[in-house]
Amino acid sequence: MKNITVIGSGTMGNGIAHTFAQFGYNVSLMDVNEAALQKALQTIAKNIDRQVAKGSVTEADKANTLSHIKTFTDLKSAVQNADLVVEAATENVKLKLDIFKQLDELCKAETILASNTSSISITTIGAVTKRADKVIGMHFMNPVPVMKLVEVIRGYSTSDAVCNTIMETSKKLGKVPVEVNDYPGFVANKILMPMINEAIITLHEGVAGVEEIDTVMKLGMAHPMGPLQLADFIGLDVCLNILRVLQDGFGNPKYAPCPLLVNMVTAGHLGVKTGKGFYNYTPGSKDLVVADRFKKKLELVVG
Ligand code: NAD
Repeated sequence: MKNITVIGSGTMGNGIAHTFAQFGYNVSLMDVNEAALQKALQTIAKNIDRQVAKGSVTEADKANTLSHIKTFTDLKSAVQNADLVVEAATENVKLKLDIFKQLDELCKAETILASNTSSISITTIGAVTKRADKVIGMHFMNPVPVMKLVEVIRGYSTSDAVCNTIMETSKKLGKVPVEVNDYPGFVANKILMPMINEAIITLHEGVAGVEEIDTVMKLGMAHPMGPLQLADFIGLDVCLNILRVLQDGFGNPKYAPCPLLVNMVTAGHLGVKTGKGFYNYTPGSKDLVVADRFKKKLELVVG
């Protein structure tokens, strides 16, 4: 396992590329959008600068890591030597199935095809390929260079050998892999997303304001970040998509996304990535400022 291709260079793709490159793998980073690739390289350089400032890596490590990453906008060139492909493109079923059909045709027969999907069924993704035994979930957490967990998701047909290879590869990246079965939301999001949705419902119903809800969960439950701040960080569109997958997958109305979340996504308030969510985000500022709309607690609508 030497050559890794990462598909999609957004929030997760740049972190995954950074991590593999840092551990000496040759990384081909592919995106349909050249601007996204350039932004990813800048983000990786900035994140390594932060590690240099902390003393965890040196300037020489920075040059070495960056030299291990090549960028591509053409899928065929990006995957031709890949031993492992980690797909981290936009969370959309049709898009991912299309990418995996192409990967199956373009990659070497032995290449393992992993998806970083937060919620889409690995069994469904595997079924559009002729190598379902080599299709697996490799669910990194955001920010990838910092977070230790990799949720390794076994599809219905994923082989033991492929699962073991991905568990071992994750350990070589300094991560702690946890093996779970394919199921809507897997483990992480089956538990996390209903909590985030409940926090948004609590705000929407006027039970408490943004800061109050986040403070209760931070100080009361020892969470490092409140659920509303975390939702902004993950991306409100990503949260909405995952809730819809849970709602469809279980057919249970308890997963229905809060109308406030739906409205915010429709209005383009997606959290950190658009600068607006439950909080406002100004580049270069670490201050957490509640969005104007939520400065006043909403009216209590029930009880
Ligand atoms: P993002 O929107 O930041 O980035 C997605 C990137 O995919 C964009 O740069 C886009 O140009 C690119 N893309 C779209 N179609 C493509 C194609 N056909 N080929 C190549 N690139 C394509 O999204 P993200 O937050 O990085 O999420 C990526 C994946 O990771 C999703 O499956 C998401 O569910 C999962 N994930 C996200 C988080 C998170 O916190 N954001 C955490 C874990 C997993």
